Amino acid sequence: MTTAVEMSAPATRPPQSAVRVVVVGAGFAGLAAVKALAGRHGQSSRVDVTLVDQHNYHVFTPFLYQVATALLEPTGAAHPVRPLIRGLRDVEFRLAQVSGFNFRLHRVESDHGSIDYDYLIVATGAVNDYFQNADIATKTFSLNQLDAAQELRNHILSCFEAAVWVTDSVERSRLLTFAVVGGGPTGVEFSAALSVLVHELVARDFAVISGAEPRVVLVEGSTALLTSFAPDLQDKAHRALRARGVQIESTALVAEVDKDGLVLKDGRRLASATVVWAAGVRANPLADCFPATGTRGRVMVGATLQVERHPEVFVVGDSAEIPGRSGALPMLAQVAIQSGRHAARSVLALSSGGTVSTFHYRDLGTMAVLGRGDAVAQIGRVHLTGLSGWLAWLAVHLARANSWQTKATVMFDWVSGLVFTDRPVRLITRPTVEPTSSETGARRPDTRAEPVRSVAFAKADLPSVNVANTHRWGRVAALAWWSQDYPGLRPKPTRQKGIAALRGRALRLRHVLTGDKSSAED
Ligand SMILES: Cc1cc2nc3c(=O)[nH]c(=O)nc-3n(C[C@H](O)[C@H](O)[C@H](O)COP(=O)(O)OP(=O)(O)OC[C@H]3O[C@@H](n4cnc5c(N)ncnc54)[C@H](O)[C@@H]3O)c2cc1C
Repeated sequence: MTTAVEMSAPATRPPQSAVRVVVVGAGFAGLAAVKALAGRHGQSSRVDVTLVDQHNYHVFTPFLYQVATALLEPTGAAHPVRPLIRGLRDVEFRLAQVSGFNFRLHRVESDHGSIDYDYLIVATGAVNDYFQNADIATKTFSLNQLDAAQELRNHILSCFEAAVWVTDSVERSRLLTFAVVGGGPTGVEFSAALSVLVHELVARDFAVISGAEPRVVLVEGSTALLTSFAPDLQDKAHRALRARGVQIESTALVAEVDKDGLVLKDGRRLASATVVWAAGVRANPLADCFPATGTRGRVMVGATLQVERHPEVFVVGDSAEIPGRSGALPMLAQVAIQSGRHAARSVLALSSGGTVSTFHYRDLGTMAVLGRGDAVAQIGRVHLTGLSGWLAWLAVHLARANSWQTKATVMFDWVSGLVFTDRPVRLITRPTVEPTSSETGARRPDTRAEPVRSVAFAKADLPSVNVANTHRWGRVAALAWWSQDYPGLRPKPTRQKGIAALRGRALRLRHVLTGDKSSAED
């Protein structure tokens, strides 16, 4: 629920010792803004920065398709915000869902209360665009959030497990048909990675269903894939996907999605238990708080990224319709990073009594991965394909990843995948064992269901933070943690010594996460 905008003269406020800057959104744009603001000073005063996000982690969206296809742990595509801003001076983080803005009182409204600002930078990104079709929204999977990518991975793996039990060839084929809607970079990268996964999976581990060939079908409304790329790269992507066994349906528009699959506008039906929606995004609904929105619901900003009549408010990244040389700038991470930085510099200039400058975007190129060691990259006039494209993609994305820990996790999982030619993260961690089984066709009973645990731990409840799911070592720690609440499950005396240290660590972890001192002193 967003709060309507209030337009009038700025509130007068008593002189402050520090300039208060609130940055909403810890995505690419918000983090770039915070880093550029940290520890800086206005003309005569300190700049205090409050970063607000609805999650306590930053998501590296370019890796989400790898989470969904079991190539990467979720920790490879997301990193907690607090360590990312650790060491940045005069920056604090607040976990809250922002519900609106009071521009008259210079106030951000959230589910945890309000925060006052002198300058506001809004960087709340984008959401999937379902073109107001409720069926598409509820019956398709998406890739734009960490939860969604994990859920999709669980579902894909569950489809294979379910197919083993099915004797009816039509139903088995439905379970093993994966439809991806949208032939942009997200749809192409996901289709390529999924194709490798499903063919490898069946060949290796599902001999019993090897007769039913799994299919990945990429449905695209226009005549070509990757329409924002040059024609030679579009062709290359088309050929590479075909070679990987992806069935490409061009000029095919989706009319409806139901529990059995999707129906195209030309009347053709595709029976599929998995429809992944990668057909477009629009600005976060918070954009509706602003007086003027443009294409894809984005907030219209001027060339300085400021909002009309509110020079103290900047909107950046995917939420903003930023004027470029040939129309609005695309919704890309580079646009977000550069615009976030620019807004931060403008805030510093304004708070020092200076003026703001026009934002100029530097196009650093676009890339899409087409499988192991294969990518297309368009960097100015340079077009790279195959291994050179992939190496360029690798270098750019590893450099962009926000922490060394993320880089290390990603490298470890990738190298492990290459060496063992297997997907290291093929875990079904949520009980999505019956894909699209409900009468309504809704794709899952509960998207936030608890992770599957062994029967022995079925009644155990991990307090608030799901450590088991957030870190590889978390699973070990969680086991020891759970054992605290279930004395009957504690290890036998002979094994106690080795596990005592682990328990000690778990207790300290529990203390840090819950503030439960008694458990730490146990
Ligand atoms: C699957 C996928 C793959 C992509 N791959 C690429 C790629 O390879 N290269 C590329 O350049 N671009 C890619 N993009 C696009 C890129 O992710 C976006 O352009 C970029 O993330 C925009 O940055 P942002 O800071 O505006 O928004 P985001 O990075 O989305 O950050 C928005 C932040 O705002 C927070 N937020 C939202 N609403 C609220 C609220 N109400 N209260 C508090 N916080 C809130 C969110 O939690 C989030 O942390 C991809 C996008 C997706 C979905």
